[in-house]
Amino acid sequence: MSLRSRLALGCALPLSLALALACSASAQTAKPMLGFTPDSAQRERALEGVYDKQLDGSEMRAWLEQLSSEPNHVGAPHNKANAEFMLAKFKEWGWDARIETFYVLYPTPISESLDLLGPKPFTAALHEGPVEGDRTSGKTQNALPPYVAYQGDGDVTGDLVYVNYGMPEDYKALERLGVSVKGKIVIARYGAGWRGLKPELAQEHGAIGCLIYSDPADDGYATDDVWPKGGQRPPQGVQRGSVQRMMLYSGDPLTPGVGATKDANRLTRETAQTILKIPALPISYADAQPLLEALGGQMAPRNFRGALPITYHVGGADAARVHLAVKSDWSLKPIYDVIATLKGKDFPDQWVVRGNHHDGWVFGATDPLSGNVVLMEEAKAIGQLAKTGWRPKRTLVYASWDAEEPGLIGSTEWAEAHAEELQKKALAYVNSDSNERGFFGAEGSHSLQTLVNQVASETPDPETGVSVADRLKGKFMLDAASPTAREDVKLAAAATANGGEFPLPPLGSGSDYTGFLQHLGVASLNVGFGGEGEMGGVYHSIYDSYDHFLRYGDPTFDYEVALAKSAGRIMLRLADGEAPPMRFTPVSSAVAQYLKEVKGLVDKDRTGDEKLAHLLAAKAYELSNDPLHPLAAPKPEAPVPALDFSALDVATSRLDAAAKAFDAAYATNLGRLDRKQQASLETLLSGMEQGLTSAEGLPGRPWFHHMLYAPGLLTGYGAKTMPAVREAIESRRWAEAQTYIVVTAKTLDTYAERLERGASSLSAK
Ligand SMILES: [Zn+2]
Repeated sequence: MSLRSRLALGCALPLSLALALACSASAQTAKPMLGFTPDSAQRERALEGVYDKQLDGSEMRAWLEQLSSEPNHVGAPHNKANAEFMLAKFKEWGWDARIETFYVLYPTPISESLDLLGPKPFTAALHEGPVEGDRTSGKTQNALPPYVAYQGDGDVTGDLVYVNYGMPEDYKALERLGVSVKGKIVIARYGAGWRGLKPELAQEHGAIGCLIYSDPADDGYATDDVWPKGGQRPPQGVQRGSVQRMMLYSGDPLTPGVGATKDANRLTRETAQTILKIPALPISYADAQPLLEALGGQMAPRNFRGALPITYHVGGADAARVHLAVKSDWSLKPIYDVIATLKGKDFPDQWVVRGNHHDGWVFGATDPLSGNVVLMEEAKAIGQLAKTGWRPKRTLVYASWDAEEPGLIGSTEWAEAHAEELQKKALAYVNSDSNERGFFGAEGSHSLQTLVNQVASETPDPETGVSVADRLKGKFMLDAASPTAREDVKLAAAATANGGEFPLPPLGSGSDYTGFLQHLGVASLNVGFGGEGEMGGVYHSIYDSYDHFLRYGDPTFDYEVALAKSAGRIMLRLADGEAPPMRFTPVSSAVAQYLKEVKGLVDKDRTGDEKLAHLLAAKAYELSNDPLHPLAAPKPEAPVPALDFSALDVATSRLDAAAKAFDAAYATNLGRLDRKQQASLETLLSGMEQGLTSAEGLPGRPWFHHMLYAPGLLTGYGAKTMPAVREAIESRRWAEAQTYIVVTAKTLDTYAERLERGASSLSAK
């Protein structure tokens, strides 16, 4: 812990609840604490003061060095050793801990090759190699070579086409250039959308293979000095990752919806929907440059051009020919989830769950171990509190997941295996993953927005001493002042400018909350610091190492301590509140905002169509065409029909009234509830988020039950809110949009009805 953060807390007492109470309670008395009365808030702050004193950056540093000292991907000996090390630690700290094992399909490469054929033949190195000053970078004995998991394997030869980021708009641009990828091998650069969409969209467009490379424009020398001089991606660095179609369902591809236990019913590799059919390989920019340089054909459109010292062409007519072969071992592998429990004294059947994964792609110092050691530190500090005789009111569950990298597998299998129990007992799930210097970030369920804001306003930023909430507010103001500011940033700046809460961005996917939030309907958060480190440049490469983290992640471990403080407070307040600290007007505001956005999309489509029709009618494309570089005109769209949003209008108003009534009743009656009221409030709130789910799930992907937040089918990690309605509109499936306006409205009605019931039971005397 830094000097500054110790001063901010203002006391230096030994571990004693009574003494700490007197000290830290005075500092923060004025601030409200959701779920607590003034008296219980004072006791809770005292507890948090003692908790803070247990946090020790040097301890996290030692664990990080040990856990990242050898390759720790799924199946690596060190990954299992790490799980066993954590198990012993949790036990030592007084937790009831165990390892839960699942058996999952996890492909590992047997062989891979990539050759450029033709006049200037070139064989790709597909190898990262040691770097001076990075002590683990030469330790490749148990490491896997760069690859993307759940690509399709294959041995293909074909012409190469450069597809920019390989996103839908890039294919539209190629179509206007008259370039097809059918029967070709595509090369896409990382960025602009989730990795897995690149080979998936390539496959949909008829490509027979897919390469993905990291352009220096995005995380290499055009952004900063490269490792080891700076933190960014060196020429030979490769981003590994999963290309499993996680937008259909996450977890083991062979066991959707059920835990991958030893004798679970399994699909075959061929019938699993989430595995791709074409071979794919990630490569470095050192390997990509000769391939891109060999491409002829038309000049790549301006937005396709990266930072390599070449002229970017798309290929096509005058293409380079390449040979790509990938072969994997498709056997089942065991995975090890470490689960630790501290039983609650008042509501043992109410669980507050915290998780971070422990598997990496190679050494995984930042991703995931920087977050995992914070989770360990929290568990240690909470264990110390328990040794003084304190017990949480509700049960705490701390989990270190395995196999997140290949497809959120450890957390998803656990969530599926314990679905019924979790839907009955889990009040909330709090996730973290990579952590580094920078700004506090939290995304997730809006019922937890007030709790998060309150905690952020009491967590000091280690380098500036102001609260992490105030720093965030300053950033929103500055970002919103930019002429290119995003709408959500402007909204956040406007909300915080007049003293309001910063809105939580919604969760899409990309880490272990998905199984809890979107499959089971457990209120979830993802928290962490970031934006001022440089882990992006070594993301999923062999150089995401302890040495890199020490220089460019969080050299002082102060942001590791800051995360343990903020996430720990969120956990303690969820576990200890007189009632669960949830508030629902932030939910109704978010819903109103999402409805406004989806309506806006329809209007935007209509105006866009009219503009295009006008340009087409005036023959603007033909008239301005350059015959030497012809560009086809876009195709006209079928007209947008009128959509009837009245069901959502009515549901949103009802939700607004219900949320206000509930929040008012909660504020008035907290601390005055009888046993029966208290018990029914506990049950209501732990099942509340499930009110936002529908049993049938999203169209075409029934595993995703949440009707308010989902990963986008065409964005991957990026969130889509009111996803069934929004994605139907975005893809111009108007009838489906109309159907899901009604389905989503019904879900919101269920949620509002629960709040109405809750409000009247809180107020009943
Ligand atoms: Zn991760």
